[in-house]
Amino acid sequence: MRYVIDFSEGSKEQADLLGGKGANLAEMTKMNLPVPTGFTITTEACLEYLKKKETMSTDIHSEIHQHVLSMEERTKKRLGDSSEPLLVSVRSGSKFSMPGMMDTILNLGLNDETVLGLSQKTGDSRFAFDCYRRLLQMYGDVVCGIDKNRFDQQLEFYKEKKGYLLDSEMQAKDWQKLVAVYKNIFLEVTHQSFPQDPYEQLMSAVEAVFRSWNNRRAVTYRRLHDISDSLGTAVNIQEMVFGNFGVKSGTGVAFTRNPATGEKGIFGEFLLNAQGEDVVAGIRTPKPISALETLMPDVYQEFLTLSHLLESHYKDMQDIEFTIENGQLYLLQTRTGKRTAKSAFKICIQLVEEGIISKNEAIKRINPTMITRLLHPVFEPNELKNAVVFAKGLPASPGAANGAVYFTAEQAKKASEQGEKVILIRQETSPEDIEGMVVSEAIVTSRGGMTSHAAVVARGMGVCCVVGCEEVYVDEFLTQARVGDVLVRQGDTISVDGTTGTIYLGSIPYIEGDEWQLLKTVTNWAKEGASIDVKANAETPTDIKTALKLGAHGIGLVRTEHMFFGEERISEMRKMILAENKQALLSPLERLKEFQKNDFRAMFTVLKEKSCTIRLLDPPLHEFLPQTEEDILHLANATQRTTSEIKHRIEELHEQNPMLGHRGCRLAITTPEIYEMQVAAIIESAIEVSQKDATLNIAPEIMIPLIGSKEELAFLRKHLEQTIQTIFAKMDQIIPYKIGTMLEIPRACLTAGKIAEVSDFFSFGTNDLTQLTYGFSRDDSGKFIGVYQDKLLVKEDPFQHIDEEGVGTLMKMAVDKIRAFDPTIKIGVCGEVGGDPQTIHFLKKMGVDYISCSPYRIPAAILTIAQEL
Ligand code: PEP
Ligand code: MG
Repeated sequence: MRYVIDFSEGSKEQADLLGGKGANLAEMTKMNLPVPTGFTITTEACLEYLKKKETMSTDIHSEIHQHVLSMEERTKKRLGDSSEPLLVSVRSGSKFSMPGMMDTILNLGLNDETVLGLSQKTGDSRFAFDCYRRLLQMYGDVVCGIDKNRFDQQLEFYKEKKGYLLDSEMQAKDWQKLVAVYKNIFLEVTHQSFPQDPYEQLMSAVEAVFRSWNNRRAVTYRRLHDISDSLGTAVNIQEMVFGNFGVKSGTGVAFTRNPATGEKGIFGEFLLNAQGEDVVAGIRTPKPISALETLMPDVYQEFLTLSHLLESHYKDMQDIEFTIENGQLYLLQTRTGKRTAKSAFKICIQLVEEGIISKNEAIKRINPTMITRLLHPVFEPNELKNAVVFAKGLPASPGAANGAVYFTAEQAKKASEQGEKVILIRQETSPEDIEGMVVSEAIVTSRGGMTSHAAVVARGMGVCCVVGCEEVYVDEFLTQARVGDVLVRQGDTISVDGTTGTIYLGSIPYIEGDEWQLLKTVTNWAKEGASIDVKANAETPTDIKTALKLGAHGIGLVRTEHMFFGEERISEMRKMILAENKQALLSPLERLKEFQKNDFRAMFTVLKEKSCTIRLLDPPLHEFLPQTEEDILHLANATQRTTSEIKHRIEELHEQNPMLGHRGCRLAITTPEIYEMQVAAIIESAIEVSQKDATLNIAPEIMIPLIGSKEELAFLRKHLEQTIQTIFAKMDQIIPYKIGTMLEIPRACLTAGKIAEVSDFFSFGTNDLTQLTYGFSRDDSGKFIGVYQDKLLVKEDPFQHIDEEGVGTLMKMAVDKIRAFDPTIKIGVCGEVGGDPQTIHFLKKMGVDYISCSPYRIPAAILTIAQEL
């Protein structure tokens, strides 16, 4: 096995072995782009090192040695040579990007002698000693575990002593003196001197990067992003190029399109005379990339050309790290850029329009969970009129949020655990802050740019974020922040607008965002050729309109009981329930029928010929009865009864176990008038709407709940068909219709082949089916299901993701029996899990014809289905 691969040997397909960074460096080398020469130590080497209790085998050692030798040959420089010193960077790079979570060391190869060589060769000893002190600090931190603040503090002391404000005021002799101070820190902490042998530096650095795979922040990041612990990291060794080599040098990060908004065109920033991590670390606020056009027009043009080249090669928006050394451009990294949900949609649409990717590819690239983030919240415009601005910064990640301010990740985490909505304000964030960032509604930093750690991480998580609020001064005790005289203390409420970069005092209400058009374009593509229809569970005109806007093929479940909840309606419902005899039933039923007909007419008019499955009354009647004394009195007055008569009737209707009691089709068998009224309302309104517009062919689907046997359905079907025939005769018109049932009782699944003889279609009611299969009450299981999950007794809540092994087996059995009887019968799913992407994969394999879910879950369901094509 080979443990080390030269950049010229690898390719972008090898991210498993070379890590994302290594694979892309190899690809860019292959494309003849200006990439400093180097090699990658593979993830397999890392895994072997970790497995062997952190010892590096002689094989890995000698392979690294061989590759250093060939690098020396190519560069005509030598590691440790005092006249032509080879200096390298040592960077981690796993398969999936984990920004800032693992370690990097720059300028490796410098020692007391080579620093003089570098100084002589470049004629710039200030530069050479600045590089050396950076190496001491990075090496000290990464390899020896010396707190980096110890180095920073010494730098600050030194500057104070000298009366300097900025690092740029430090002269060669100043850095030289600081190098001596830094070396003392080494001695003090490790009782050893900083290693002068560059090979020792190199091997220790490689081992430290391997170990950083298991540091706390990397482990937390992996857990958050579902990245496997078993991948390991690769290590890239690359010849140094220097962005801190004077005013014709610099370093930066740029995206080929805007990662926050998706806007076309290069977007990024850079720092002049800076090295490596300075841009992403957010320590200095960088300039926008457009400023490079005036400062170094040739470099800017070259960068534009290369970034176009990379984007069309990778066929996706790229996030590119570059360094300019004395007017010469180098590319240090390219990767697929992280982006907001809005930007992801926009970029996919642009790439299709530009002919770079197919619609199919665009659909595959969109993670269905992004949709929830697509419709970002925004502040109520009216509320903003009187809002008081606290500060302004760069709009790093869009959205609107309010919450209590905390100044450390730890405090933010603690407050959030106590149920508080928190906003984290930091000078700049570092990977150590990740646990506090995750729980925050918004993140604000006083320093740093659009590609700083805070900006990148927040955008990736879809959390609202404003960075570079330079006017905000966070006090050293981390308890308050100040802009001029205005103070914000820990626990005070602020509001953050990540779209405009504005921070307001106090709590401003926000409304959800609206990116329907982007969503519509992609869901329309996804619907082309999809094998399963996605319908909505909806009954109000607003929900139905929303569902259609979001791409629903029709309505798969109208829960008619939801139509009886309005004040006027529930009162008629109650009168109906209280009726002592059939005669007394008729008047409230007649009123209810009118309500229903109004609703159905509106529904059919909006839906036109789109399918509409209307489920007849399902819950037990007592759910409609009054609970409070006030409501009981009100009902007594409305029905000329005494309150005790009402209470008596409520007691009569009481059931020990209503979920298993007198509900659904059972109610219709004892009191057929209710379903007769509902069916009449459906058929009459369908005829009336089609009479108004003769071109419409409305074919309602009537669904009977809680069927457990063929006999029940056959009995009800016969009865209801008589009602339908009477209406056809009365209205002198016949329309197509279907009568079907739900599969929500285990017995119905077991006997589905027989039920199919009398059912025109089926729809799995997985809510009840899960309840009855597992024996977990759907209303009460919340009390214990979390404990079951903690104790690994169930992997997931079966009401959220289908229980494949139990409920799934019953469903499969039912589908097979139905298909054996008649392969053309339509089978759907309308329980809650129908909108869950994970469950949809399973249902698709089972061969259902449609799923039906709540309106806002429709786009994700449509995409999930299309992604499997
Ligand atoms: C079901 O049981 O899955 C279902 C869709 O019906 P409801 O939730 O109304 O009982
Ligand atoms: Mg049900």
